[in-house]
Amino acid sequence: MSIFSKIAAGEIPSYKCAENDEFYAFLDINPMVKGHTLCIPRREVDYIFDLEDDEIARFQVFAKKVAVALKKVCPCVKVGQAVLGLEVPHAHIHLIPMQSEKDMLFNKPKLQLEQEEFQRIADAVYAEFQKL
Ligand code: 5GP
Repeated sequence: MSIFSKIAAGEIPSYKCAENDEFYAFLDINPMVKGHTLCIPRREVDYIFDLEDDEIARFQVFAKKVAVALKKVCPCVKVGQAVLGLEVPHAHIHLIPMQSEKDMLFNKPKLQLEQEEFQRIADAVYAEFQKL
């Protein structure tokens, strides 16, 4: 079981932002910016482009809704989307509230946030997601 499968199953704690039967969203533990969120399919697939056509379509719609909720909580110019998958072998979409292009540079130093800050952001995104 991948670390992200354990997170989606609740076996490893996470700051939950959104979920449905098929997908789960939570805050990245080493955020590039406040609100840096990861969306994953519950089904364990390493490479995002190995997802079935209809599955990746639903995954993208889920990520879109998370991005809409995220933008309400973390004001930004746009929410950027990226797929790397070089560290964790479980497909995931990064959603990053951007103020500028620099916010998408994955090699820049990561933010240190307090637990309370992570929780506040996740709870607020979760509440906004429920309204969609
Ligand atoms: P990638 O595989 O796309 O290169 O990066 C994986 C991302 O997952 C990184 O941004 C990293 O900070 C995040 N990550 C790795 N392990 C955990 C974890 O246990 N919990 C959370 N919330 N994020 C993680």
